[in-house]
Amino acid sequence: MILRVWSTICAQNVYEFKCSGPKACNFQTTRLKNVSHTQKRKSKTTFNAYSVANGDVAVMKGWTGKILRVDLSREKSASQEFDADFALKFFGGRGFAAKLLWDETKRGVDPFSPENLLVFATGPLTGLPLPSSSKMVVAAKSPLTGGYGDGNLGSWAAVNLRKAGYDALVVTGTSRKPSYIAIVDGNVRIEDAKEYWGMGSFETERKLKEKHGKAVGVLEIGQGGENLVRYATVVSQEGRSGGRPGMGAVMGSKKLKAVVVEGKKEIPLADEKRLKELGVEGYQSVLSRSNYKFWKRQGTMSTVEWCQANCVLPTCNFRENVFDEAASISGEFMEKLKVTQKGCPNCNMTCGNVIEDIEGNQSELDYENVVMLGSNIGLGDLKKVAHLNRLADDYGLDTISLGNTIGFVMEASEKKLIKEKLEWGNHDDAKRLIEDTVRGEGVGKLAAKGTRAAAEEIGQGSSNWAMNVKGLEISAYDCHSAPGMALGFGTCSIGAHHKDAWVISWEISFGRESYGPEKVAKVLEFQRIRGGGFESLVTCRFPWIELGFELEWYPKFFEAATGVRTSVEEIYTLGDRVYSLIRAYWVREYGSRWSRTMDYPPPRWFKEAPSKGAQKGVKLDVQGYDRLLDEYYVRRGWDKNGIPRQTTLQKLGLADVAQTVGKT
Ligand code: SF4
Repeated sequence: MILRVWSTICAQNVYEFKCSGPKACNFQTTRLKNVSHTQKRKSKTTFNAYSVANGDVAVMKGWTGKILRVDLSREKSASQEFDADFALKFFGGRGFAAKLLWDETKRGVDPFSPENLLVFATGPLTGLPLPSSSKMVVAAKSPLTGGYGDGNLGSWAAVNLRKAGYDALVVTGTSRKPSYIAIVDGNVRIEDAKEYWGMGSFETERKLKEKHGKAVGVLEIGQGGENLVRYATVVSQEGRSGGRPGMGAVMGSKKLKAVVVEGKKEIPLADEKRLKELGVEGYQSVLSRSNYKFWKRQGTMSTVEWCQANCVLPTCNFRENVFDEAASISGEFMEKLKVTQKGCPNCNMTCGNVIEDIEGNQSELDYENVVMLGSNIGLGDLKKVAHLNRLADDYGLDTISLGNTIGFVMEASEKKLIKEKLEWGNHDDAKRLIEDTVRGEGVGKLAAKGTRAAAEEIGQGSSNWAMNVKGLEISAYDCHSAPGMALGFGTCSIGAHHKDAWVISWEISFGRESYGPEKVAKVLEFQRIRGGGFESLVTCRFPWIELGFELEWYPKFFEAATGVRTSVEEIYTLGDRVYSLIRAYWVREYGSRWSRTMDYPPPRWFKEAPSKGAQKGVKLDVQGYDRLLDEYYVRRGWDKNGIPRQTTLQKLGLADVAQTVGKT
């Protein structure tokens, strides 16, 4: 049997798969030229997207080839096969999620409606014995932004999902009562979660492990997700969390408290021996890096000192970029308090630094949560910061959006735009606000909606200092004097997030004052590899970004897992495809409300300069930023409003998307 698939990696290259049958497939990949797209066959399941008739499905290597579908309204589940076209075109993780959301959510769908999809997607490297490879992406239409939303987290649940025989879990519908999905003993069950509803994420996971055994992986929500806080996350293993733009709230809207996964199968591999060899070499290579030991001591925490020294440390709602008490929340200070270290499965560079908070409980710290719940709210006591962070993890709230929103509310209080009194740096005020946010009481009701919606309600110019892009709160880098990083925030696929284009370190060594095209090139390069490659493969970016683990490892890992040759350049193209698809999703959802101003950072960075530090008086130049944006759109093949052109979408293999978006 020969299954021809249009290469997803490059529209000019086509792979031919020789498949000896559905049970024993041995891919032999050869490149062919100019072969047309395989005709789509009709689905055999009620889910219409990617299934082909059983006899035609190649038993794929690297991927399990299956998506588990659970419809909570109908209390039904089904295993759906996907074909090589889908796998090679989108790889997994973010690529899978973006395509599924594009195809299966109707334009304008209410994020909290049963019709919204909640996607948990792994990639072809997830769960394999390779460096930092236990991540999954959780995605949905976001209740915070109204656009595409996702995030990644490392968890045994990701590893086990693959070992249960699925690359992704897609949840639709809404349960009539609190429920959880149990993928155990080779069965999929929807179980009653009444006894867990109202519990924090830590206790929920503990109890579910008591019931199902320690070997299961668990994904859960805390009270934040239950009560639809718009930046509630999905949590696992007391501190791993993902889905900043409210994926935990989408889970709560479906009355889905948790997903429990047991995995006992082998993940199918094209070349198991080679993959094991590469894994051993890869782990050793990580260990041999010159900064490995320092990374293990501090993880991302040393960024506090670096940001303070370079005047990019968010302070008091991004009003300033140096913090007088930075030393007391620094990496060096954290080391003195550190009691242990945590991390994701399959990782030998674990980065979660654990200290005890003011109540003696353990709290897992990294740069983002310390700064957003520390300097950004004027709090310079690391144990108190750790306490707020632990509350956020247990409630299942995104620490970045939470710290950003607390900063916004404190500033609104200072300006007397709200009646509640919250003072900068006051731990009790911050704690009370977090609790009110989860309960939806007092000013917490406002805070639960995030900064964009809160500013719209308060008015009086507060949108100028509501620090978000497209509704997603900015993470912990001040960009008054970092235009490249501002562009990274402005154009990130989910709203303002540092993950896809963390160019600030490069930018400051290169020349922060420049608004030249090299900034655009760097943002694009990072978005391709970080926002496209790592998020779709799915694997952690830190070995590469922090220890210099070369990108060339990943095509080798991919080939050993799947049998398909690829290259870094082809992964870049994957990144472009995923980015344009996600942009098309935003444009489709926003319709006439879409404009290039959606890609602008908040007015504060253009209008109000910081009052101290070496970058005192410096602010972003609006014309300069517009030049960067114009150049970015040209290089992406998008029009002057940031809408993908039809030709661009077609070139990327997204002809179906081009029919809806990108008429120019
Ligand atoms: S480096 Fe940190 S985030 Fe990445 S896989 Fe390891 S523990 Fe997880």
